[in-house]
Amino acid sequence: MESAQSSDSCIICNKPNALRCNRCKSASYCSKLCQRGDFLVHKLLCSSFSAFDVSKRPTKQHVEPEDEYDRRYQSPNARPFLNDHGREVPIQFNAVLARRLLDAVCVSYRDTFLVDGSAPNSSVATITTTQPGYHHHWCGPIIAYGKVGSDFDPEECRDIDMHDFRHVADYFMSYGTDLISVPSSPPMNCVKVKGVRINCLGDQKMFNKPHFEEIELSTTSIIFRSHETSDITKRIGIPIYTKRCFPHPNWANAKDAEMFGNESPYNNQDATFLHLCIDPEAKEDFSRGFLGWSWAPSQWQQDVGSTIVVRQDKKPLLPWHAEALCSYCRYHARDCLAHTIGEYAPDKPMSKSLALSMICRPTFSIWWYRMCREQRDKGKIVDAKIPYDE
Ligand SMILES: [Zn+2]
Ligand SMILES: [Zn+2]
Repeated sequence: MESAQSSDSCIICNKPNALRCNRCKSASYCSKLCQRGDFLVHKLLCSSFSAFDVSKRPTKQHVEPEDEYDRRYQSPNARPFLNDHGREVPIQFNAVLARRLLDAVCVSYRDTFLVDGSAPNSSVATITTTQPGYHHHWCGPIIAYGKVGSDFDPEECRDIDMHDFRHVADYFMSYGTDLISVPSSPPMNCVKVKGVRINCLGDQKMFNKPHFEEIELSTTSIIFRSHETSDITKRIGIPIYTKRCFPHPNWANAKDAEMFGNESPYNNQDATFLHLCIDPEAKEDFSRGFLGWSWAPSQWQQDVGSTIVVRQDKKPLLPWHAEALCSYCRYHARDCLAHTIGEYAPDKPMSKSLALSMICRPTFSIWWYRMCREQRDKGKIVDAKIPYDE
């Protein structure tokens, strides 16, 4: 896990000795790239933050009396805004940036806002529209404030800064999205599973990441509890779990057509083809993004982003395994499915059952050894065994 944030480290990538924003002097960036990554969120508050009237702030003595455990809690008087149904959520981890926070930021909101007639919160909507994809429908007043430390229940308040604003924004943007963040390495002393991160165009081009990247996850990782699966790899005897990752802010909004060759930085065709539907009984359900036989569901077609893949049996999945599985789905299985829907006319479309009979363990074995041979012919070494042997 990356280390915690300190105020002079880059808000986006956490590199130390970053430079402060010229205007608000509150957010730090290591580079133009990271500054640009934060820009759409930062610009919403930079100017008004730099014009804060500090003379009107409450004094340090603004504390509540000691409670029965001799603790003096400082908390903003949020009650008039929250209709007595307030919920305080301490943010101690930024899921988008995969980073633990040194000091917590709290947000308080009406916990009944979806049913009590609260008006949509247009400020939060402005924040969440800086990133494509599904976003929670935030309503009613929302109050954010800083706390000292990131214990379970911090007592003391502190001034909020533009780094906190980034964390609050990421909280709103990531809430309810079911995406995963990947710490650079799982905590020590835990059982680890080798998996693969299939990097989307944005992560490949902007961070020079390999297409198929070896990663380690702990057995307690969320992917083992909440995930999607691949029909095709299950059918050939290698069931996997898949999960999409949070888009990195540095490319999430990049319209840098040159760097991405006029494609979307979210583009991840390999992950798309891994999720082709091969259930012959599958019904289309457009409201749920489900397009039926031979198609990947809509969340695997647009704004896909990088994707984590692990084996369900927790045996190691190596980059070369993932590459072979993706290539098999993309160039073998996809062609069989395309034939059934008439893409090889004038040839009469083959039946779904014939296509299914061609998507099986033996054809994957043939595919695997052919790929290995092609690599060797190019002088490359393949040091992975066929995944059935692992
Ligand atoms: Zn940075
Ligand atoms: Zn600023």
